[in-house]
Amino acid sequence: MFGDINKLEEMKAKLNSVSPSFCMAKWKHVTIHLMNGHTHSCYLPRTHAIPLEELKNNPSALHNTSYKKEQRRKMLNGERPEECKICWEIEDLPGNQTSDRHWRGIDSWTLPFFDEIRKTPWDANVYPSYVEVSFSSACNFKCSYCSPHVSSKWAEEIKQHGPYQLSEYQHQNTQWLQDNGFMPLEDEDNPYVEAFWKWWPDLVKQMMFFRITGGEPLLSKNTFKVLDWLKENPQANLDLSINSNMGVPERHMDRFITSIKDIVENGKVKNFMLHTSVDTFGEHAEYIRNGLNFKYFDKNINRFLTENPRASVAFMCTFNNLSISRFREFLDWVVDLRTRYGSAQRSVLLDIPHLMGPFHQSVKILTPDYLDRMRELHTYMQSNISDENGFRQAEVEKFGRIIGWMESPSEEGWLKKSRRDFYLYFKEHDRRRGTDFLKTFPQMKDFWEHCKSLVHEK
Ligand code: SF4
Repeated sequence: MFGDINKLEEMKAKLNSVSPSFCMAKWKHVTIHLMNGHTHSCYLPRTHAIPLEELKNNPSALHNTSYKKEQRRKMLNGERPEECKICWEIEDLPGNQTSDRHWRGIDSWTLPFFDEIRKTPWDANVYPSYVEVSFSSACNFKCSYCSPHVSSKWAEEIKQHGPYQLSEYQHQNTQWLQDNGFMPLEDEDNPYVEAFWKWWPDLVKQMMFFRITGGEPLLSKNTFKVLDWLKENPQANLDLSINSNMGVPERHMDRFITSIKDIVENGKVKNFMLHTSVDTFGEHAEYIRNGLNFKYFDKNINRFLTENPRASVAFMCTFNNLSISRFREFLDWVVDLRTRYGSAQRSVLLDIPHLMGPFHQSVKILTPDYLDRMRELHTYMQSNISDENGFRQAEVEKFGRIIGWMESPSEEGWLKKSRRDFYLYFKEHDRRRGTDFLKTFPQMKDFWEHCKSLVHEK
């Protein structure tokens, strides 16, 4: 999926020859949140609402909203869409900077379309080549850093107990989410899902990558409708991937694993990748991702990899301040899977992005002693780099970047507020969910006490 770095400088020049703000992701990438009718291209700008009237005669308005067309017009004319400021901020730094706009130009799903896009009128309806959809917010987990508009379990909890009262604001306030159009519609009778299925037979022929996210996709009947459709209508050029917490009841797991077996073994898609989230090992992972049973998760991963010898898996580890204490065991667990199941035909991947929000769960708020533990982990990874059964260079570098981020200075007031919120959040979490922070994380007692003292200091 990722492009050849050697083509980067050439592509920068090509993009700038169209305009200094031209980015192919605005045409060829889309994430569509069908559960609440929001979309964005790429995933960096905020989502915007899809107007229902635009969908009436044009299901492609799931991607081609009039709002997005206006951003494309600006890009072709050399104006910078405000929503893409993350790229402009990087490009305005001194030196020859590389932003996501440039990286997106050399992806396999944009590169072949350069000439086509630049000649396409800004107001045309276009087909994306990289599509990500979420059908529903139905989920059996309520992970600590997730939100009620993405997880129905979270929504149930907030309905029962109200938002979390942190030091200066209400966290997970569903009224705010409702007022801003983020809360999901009912699964039945959803006009966005209806439009998706109208568009699908044409869309699927143009796609190179299709990824289903959630909620928990294996709890949505639409996910299985996609799989059943692909069984009957093979798409040999399509890379398919599904996110799953791999903790759904057995009957859903059975249906998923057998469907993927049929699709992959019979060449009904080009490749299949399972994306699954887990942020550390054992009970610590269970505390972070409420609803997870690590043993059941481990069993399902092993079963998936055994029964699908040509399907790949990517672990998405959202590294946060509760990940550190058992991270070494987690790393060993991943390497063990890689050793047993990695092959020329498939990969066992590990991605370690660090959690940026909510702030109170980020590693940035930890006390300096945690840096020593991070450096030990980094050294361990560095001394086990291997293209076969160890860590990949890119994984080690990504982990090193987290340390660099932890070392960078933080504003004292922000730090105190975030540490107070850490205590307020997990204390309330324990009360509502019947968990016990200190019993689960005895290693973090000093940090917990420090955060608690800040609440009382206020
Ligand atoms: S300019 Fe940057 S933020 Fe905007 S669509 Fe392209 S990659 Fe995304």
